[in-house]
Amino acid sequence: MKKIQMVDLHSQYLNIKTEIDKGIQDVIDSCAFINGPAVKNFQEGLEKYLGIKHVIPCANGTDALQVSMMALGLQPGDEVITTSFTFIATAEVIALLKLTPVLVDVDPGTFNIDLKAIERAITPKTKAIVPVHLFGQCAPMEEIMALAKKHNLFVLEDNCQAIGSDYIFNSGSQKKAGTIGHIGCTSFFPSKNLGCYGDGGAIFTNDDELAKQLRVIVNHGMVVRYHHDVIGVNSRLDSIQAAILHVKLGHLDEYAAKRRAAADFYDKAFANNPRLTTPVRYAKSTHVFHQYTLVTRDFNRQALIDQLLAKEIPAMIYYPVPLHLQKAYLDPRYKPGDFPVTEALSESVFSLPMHTELDDEQLKHIVTSVLEFVNR
Ligand SMILES: *Cc1c(COP(=O)(O)O)cnc(C)c1O
Repeated sequence: MKKIQMVDLHSQYLNIKTEIDKGIQDVIDSCAFINGPAVKNFQEGLEKYLGIKHVIPCANGTDALQVSMMALGLQPGDEVITTSFTFIATAEVIALLKLTPVLVDVDPGTFNIDLKAIERAITPKTKAIVPVHLFGQCAPMEEIMALAKKHNLFVLEDNCQAIGSDYIFNSGSQKKAGTIGHIGCTSFFPSKNLGCYGDGGAIFTNDDELAKQLRVIVNHGMVVRYHHDVIGVNSRLDSIQAAILHVKLGHLDEYAAKRRAAADFYDKAFANNPRLTTPVRYAKSTHVFHQYTLVTRDFNRQALIDQLLAKEIPAMIYYPVPLHLQKAYLDPRYKPGDFPVTEALSESVFSLPMHTELDDEQLKHIVTSVLEFVNR
């Protein structure tokens, strides 16, 4: 059996090697390493795929979030509501810009931001909501947009984990994750669903003015060469990464289907197990399974992970510590117990290998090993 990995980038590469190698070689031959045609090609390809007017490539997902908040003109002291159950980057940029992160709990089924909790957290100082489409499916965007409209707030989608997933409105119409709020952000970190071979990120918007501002900020606040109108940053997607991403974008839907097939295999094996809860599928979103995350009940999670590791099956905990209990983010406003769902999840979830190259033999070995421990 092929060695099982959380994400098998090498096997994936071998299946698209000819296309990838050509893309990289073309950039080297052109020597247009920064802002070359490969970046424009990928940008346009992604705009088309997402059905959005503007994609602004940048250096990574964290920058995408930071630049977005800068472009929205958020000022120190402005409150930004986000989830307590996410990767740190979401809150990090809020804190770096001296905005005030306001954390709210999540839904125990989907792990996504709790709508009612957002509503309760809104104050006169609130300026933006940052829903995170965690593990590959969308937060309740239609309701969030309605709430934002009512209170005149910006919505910035952290779509680092759900690129390609479709949000389904009550009317039945659909939009791609990351294209519903005022701005959407994504990461092309190698292990993400659309990952490059280094760092990369992008910002999406349908707003022409915001797009202009975002492009200026990622490029040193420069409108006319060497004339800097606003304080910006240096955040670029390099041409080699763009060439790789352009190739992988062509496979994104096929990759999502492979992830879903692996998730279905896991679902079937763990269905109705009293000690495991399989991921809830939110009715208003397709799931692209950035992670396949189970909730455990009545057994020692770490003992299971250790036993899996002993059988060369990797398993991870996303995320073991809620944001409000992270050392750097300790805040007198928050204490243990404030976000009971997040806290319970961080003590009970674990994620199994999830990628585009899992074969039946590997999947069987994984589920047999999990069940052997859980049902003993
Ligand atoms: C990966 C990730 C980020 C950060 O992306 P980088 O490219 O690593 O900077 C931000 N938010 C979430 C939810 C992520 O999963």
